[in-house]
Amino acid sequence: MYKPTSPQLTLTEPAFQMPGILPKDDWSFIYKEKIWPLIDENRFKHLYSGEAGAPNISIKLKLSLLIFMALEQLNWRQVEFMFMRRIDWINATYSEFGQTFIDHTTLFKFYQRLADDDSTYQLFVDLTNNFIEICGVSKKKQRVDSFFMLGWLATLSRYGLFKETIRSFLQSLRKHKLGLYAEVKDKLSLDYLQDSFDLTEKDKDKARGRIKETAKDLYLLKTSFEHHHQIGHYQTFKTLVQVFEQQCAVQSEDDLSSSGDVESDKELIEIKQNADTVGLKEKTSPDDTTPAEPEIEIREKPVGDKIISSPHNTDAEYTRKRAQTVVGHKGFLTETCDPENKVQFITDVNPEAATHADAAEISLSEQRLEDNNLKPEELHGDAGFVNGQSILDAAGRGIKLAGPSSGRSQSIEGFADADRPLDIADFKVQIDDETKELSVLSCPEAQVPIDQPRSEKTGKLLVHFNSDVCRACGSRERCPVKIGVKISTVTVDEAQHAGAARHHQYMGDPEYRRKCAVRAGAESLVNEIANGHNGRQSRHRNEKGSRLQLLMAGISCNVKRFIRFTQNCARNPANVPG
Ligand code: SF4
Repeated sequence: MYKPTSPQLTLTEPAFQMPGILPKDDWSFIYKEKIWPLIDENRFKHLYSGEAGAPNISIKLKLSLLIFMALEQLNWRQVEFMFMRRIDWINATYSEFGQTFIDHTTLFKFYQRLADDDSTYQLFVDLTNNFIEICGVSKKKQRVDSFFMLGWLATLSRYGLFKETIRSFLQSLRKHKLGLYAEVKDKLSLDYLQDSFDLTEKDKDKARGRIKETAKDLYLLKTSFEHHHQIGHYQTFKTLVQVFEQQCAVQSEDDLSSSGDVESDKELIEIKQNADTVGLKEKTSPDDTTPAEPEIEIREKPVGDKIISSPHNTDAEYTRKRAQTVVGHKGFLTETCDPENKVQFITDVNPEAATHADAAEISLSEQRLEDNNLKPEELHGDAGFVNGQSILDAAGRGIKLAGPSSGRSQSIEGFADADRPLDIADFKVQIDDETKELSVLSCPEAQVPIDQPRSEKTGKLLVHFNSDVCRACGSRERCPVKIGVKISTVTVDEAQHAGAARHHQYMGDPEYRRKCAVRAGAESLVNEIANGHNGRQSRHRNEKGSRLQLLMAGISCNVKRFIRFTQNCARNPANVPG
């Protein structure tokens, strides 16, 4: 059962045993006096139900060690090593000399338990709210940004993916079914479990040949074990089957006879290995009892909803951003940014798939901020987050989403050009105070619409003008209106207008741009989390592990900021919040 940490002090703490060994304003005193009490271990007691057993090391201590680990970018073994030797850690955690051993596997198992539920997210929210209150921080203005969190393995080429997938499966097979491993390994094109295993092939021609060989090996393993009642359930085998099916296709005889000179434009592989000794079940040719040799095509593009990019993290997704290719996740970070604040705190942390769009996340971030009592009045984002729809959604929550609108030229000179194309924000419009519905009053040349019905299908306004007037208009080449025989039409909805209006505001108002410049500080937040708190590279093979890693990075960053602010206040009382 869960046993709370004893609140009693002990005389074997460093502060009692060696007074003066740490400076009075050492961070560890701030941690033990102000942060340690804020960690509510009741939030975690369900992790130690009767079946799960009692924690013989305090939950607060393990959480604190995970925070220190993210603060100093350490690994599990380093934490074990440090805890015995670091007087500041011993002091910060009310630990006793001689009692400071924690096995790194204990800590890792605790981490795995944390990854399975959202208690750590609640800890992040609790600490953030407390820090904000203690430091008198305004949360009215906040800024948001995103960055790529790379999967634990670097981006794999297709060749690397095939090799690593096979290697991963063979490791499981060797561990659990040594006899079967010994039987099948000699039928493969290379020893995948050799020590000096290289996932790359520098020579492109060689790689082309090798990928065919590895595809054959994938197929051989798939067909050998797909009906095995135990191996068929191995996660590594399921991944191997998925990778093969996404990346390769077995050519039927019909395909081959109808496709002509298939080998000239497709990478076809003949399976030459006689796989029947390991249970390969293939169609036999009519006049021969030996198994027919199926042909395997390597697809030009993989097929499937969620393409596996690494056998070790099947959740990690591949994406491209300009010249950058990424397999992993995208981290979203929000922090306070009122210039009046003496310290800023991270208010939201969330990882998503690498392909997740910023514009899709902004509304979810706002919802979380609202749920956690951290809602801003003004939220600053870059053009990835801000568009007409996200502006309206934020406004519906009482948040002003500030920043340049996406999907438009960000050239200030281009916008100032007298011949620039017109958009709906150049039309005179009216927005109803209550319904927030848009109506067009006149075009840029002051023509009043004939009518403006709303399309039942799309919900957009179809604003009609007199086409004779439009044909004679000097602005017709720049105008978004479509000039028909009898009427001219411009199609618009509230979101399009909000996006266009924001573009005009951002491009045409230097004061507004200056106000939005506060968002740029989010870049240094990203840098701090990605490079200063282990946020750039995932250490885990699944999404929940990466999620917790990013969350611990956010908590440790806030802890660090709180400690620095408290130290500054001690040195300069003018900074103490009134
Ligand atoms: S083309 Fe027609 S709608 Fe466009 S500005 Fe000229 S008159 Fe107005």
